[in-house]
Amino acid sequence: MTAAHRVDVIVIGGGIVGLATAWKIQQRRPGVSVAVLEKEPGVAQHQTGHNSGVIHSGIYYEPGSLKATLCKRGAQETKDFATAHGIPFRTTGKLLVATDETEHGRMLALHERALVNGLDVRLVDAAELRRAEPHIRGLGAIEVSTTGIIDYARVCETLAALVVAAGGEVVTGTTVTDVHEAATEVVVDTEAGIWRAERLVACAGLQADRIAAMAGIDVDVRIIPFRGEYYSLPPYRADLVARLIYPIPDPALPFLGVHLSPTIDGGITVGPNAVLGFSREDYRKGAVKVRDVLDYARYPGMWRVARANVRTGIHEMKNSLFKRGYLAECQKYCPELQLSDLLPREAGIRAQAVRRDGTLVHDFLLERTPRSIHVLNAPSPAATSALPIGQTLAEGLLP
Ligand SMILES: Cc1cc2nc3c(=O)[nH]c(=O)nc-3n(C[C@H](O)[C@H](O)[C@H](O)COP(=O)(O)OP(=O)(O)OC[C@H]3O[C@@H](n4cnc5c(N)ncnc54)[C@H](O)[C@@H]3O)c2cc1C
Repeated sequence: MTAAHRVDVIVIGGGIVGLATAWKIQQRRPGVSVAVLEKEPGVAQHQTGHNSGVIHSGIYYEPGSLKATLCKRGAQETKDFATAHGIPFRTTGKLLVATDETEHGRMLALHERALVNGLDVRLVDAAELRRAEPHIRGLGAIEVSTTGIIDYARVCETLAALVVAAGGEVVTGTTVTDVHEAATEVVVDTEAGIWRAERLVACAGLQADRIAAMAGIDVDVRIIPFRGEYYSLPPYRADLVARLIYPIPDPALPFLGVHLSPTIDGGITVGPNAVLGFSREDYRKGAVKVRDVLDYARYPGMWRVARANVRTGIHEMKNSLFKRGYLAECQKYCPELQLSDLLPREAGIRAQAVRRDGTLVHDFLLERTPRSIHVLNAPSPAATSALPIGQTLAEGLLP
């Protein structure tokens, strides 16, 4: 006999989006009972605990998109939240460095977009770049002064504690196995019993499409896992850069390119790249989960993405297999880095929604039913944007 539980709202997923949503629901409607169901033994075990820890400013995103508006709001809210709750963060600023003429052209276009998005950015020439960051070379850069760094797992621990303090539950070690939405309630089966609620929000990251399918929603997207492989610099390189150093991204791709990121614990990470993953949640190099591969191998959208990105895919795969290629990406803007500087570090895996027609979904994507909202695409900068995403979901669920 399994236990049955009843709450007002169930949130699936104890990553930063799920936890921020639960907390925002409690703030919107004090007294509403909320349970966050998380399959892992702790919170923030997937994307949220395997990212670059950057508080993005919102420079890259299509003006008017959810990403552009929620990232800008989220960056400030994240810093305010961290200040209020004693979570360490630093506003380091960031330089997006152009290393050749093509990137220089893209840099100018990106600068224009940043101005349209209302961001505090400025162009820096090669000489100023060199003065600011003596180990970095480029034709010029965009300086974004508001970008910062934080540990998002730490943010999640605080959010989970706030949810519990406000009378909610964060139930870890509880895998959702089925979802049924009826006219009067939502019923969620888990390996540890049945949960019933008035409303549901699903923030399941790498499993978002599967949770939506369980709920019987016919969504036009599939989650494709893209590994982001990192290295760490050795402690004697800890002063290599003061700011975050990013390449100028290719606007056709949703990933930002291998960057140098100071971390809040005093290190510097290099990465991440973006290679097709063969498992959604196994972080070991070479890990394969047959179900995960079959899921996308049978999906027409995947083949269309593959065809459209053959060259980039091969390039990324080669750099994943051969450290020298990966190093060459970083040497474009930091020539003195050596192979021996790249120390192993655990990878992250991005949940990237892809449509049946092969389009990569760039913006955050939500799907609504009468009693539920499913977050189907919450890639970077969703950690930065989690508090306003949570607010949006709370307002959508409890108008
Ligand atoms: C390599 C990498 C670098 C990134 N860098 C940045 C950055 O610097 N700044 C930034 O803003 N963003 C960054 N991002 C993006 C950011 O990490 C994600 O957008 C964000 O963490 C998404 O949060 P989430 O809560 O939606 O997903 P997740 O953190 O993946 O959480 C989803 C949760 O749902 C749970 N779940 C799934 N299925 C079930 C089930 N059946 N039952 C119960 N629980 C379930 C999972 O266990 C998981 O804990 C990066 C991402 C990656 C991968």
